Amino acid sequence: MPELPEVQTICQELKQVILRKKIRRVNVYRKASIGYPQADGFIKALLGKEIKDIQRRGKYILFKLSQNKLLVFHLRLSGQLRYFKELPQEIYKSERIRFIFSTGDALSFYEPRALGKAYLISGNSYPQELLGLKNLGPDPLEAIFTYKYLYNKIHNRRAKIKSLLLDQRICAGVGNIYSDEALFLARIHPFTLAYKLSKHEIKRLVWALKKVLRQAIKTKGSSVKDYLRPNGSLGSYHLHAYVYGREGLSCRRCRTKISILKFGNRRTRFCPRCQVLK
Ligand SMILES: [Zn+2]
Repeated sequence: MPELPEVQTICQELKQVILRKKIRRVNVYRKASIGYPQADGFIKALLGKEIKDIQRRGKYILFKLSQNKLLVFHLRLSGQLRYFKELPQEIYKSERIRFIFSTGDALSFYEPRALGKAYLISGNSYPQELLGLKNLGPDPLEAIFTYKYLYNKIHNRRAKIKSLLLDQRICAGVGNIYSDEALFLARIHPFTLAYKLSKHEIKRLVWALKKVLRQAIKTKGSSVKDYLRPNGSLGSYHLHAYVYGREGLSCRRCRTKISILKFGNRRTRFCPRCQVLK
């Protein structure tokens, strides 16, 4: 699933190719991939709009358009945005929406698992379908994401720290990959109950989150499962990961075998020697 570094990479790379372009046509191949409004209204409102800016909020991609419209993409598990300098003749498998610019190039929204969606809103009016975006907390790279911020959010919580890091209202943009990575760097077992963390551990965790996210942006994200950059190339963070995808391999710090535990419908990886449960 694309997390903060992948979404940040997509935004940065799209900015280089589609900023200031005008949408001439919108082809919808799967209506259910539009989360809001209905397909007809979605298409109509987009025609002739110019892309003024592209920003990331948590794991959401926001296109600021002319006339105060906001085109939002939530990629969920496997959505992709692909840029084509020349309009492809064929419609690809999993291609859900194609945006064609007046310059003849195109942006395609792919979604093999059909969970990710595109939304179009006006100004700050968030429909029910986008409450997740409205209720996002800060992401760890924002200046307000400090030790004090995280301490206030988690110090009296009896939940596992791993699940609090996945809560987008507390820690936007972080998912399974980078929560595993940050907990390893901070030497915290993913199942540690948040109220048991010392001040020093919370400080280390804030530092670790910022560090792994910056490192992952530098390497253009992790190409595990379906993530590709807009030009179709791969990110490379996963090649240097500490624990994610490394179960059974030796810890980069102490050589102990990396373990894996079931965690709801996901799994979490950690080093049993570096990250002891207290
Ligand atoms: Zn270790």
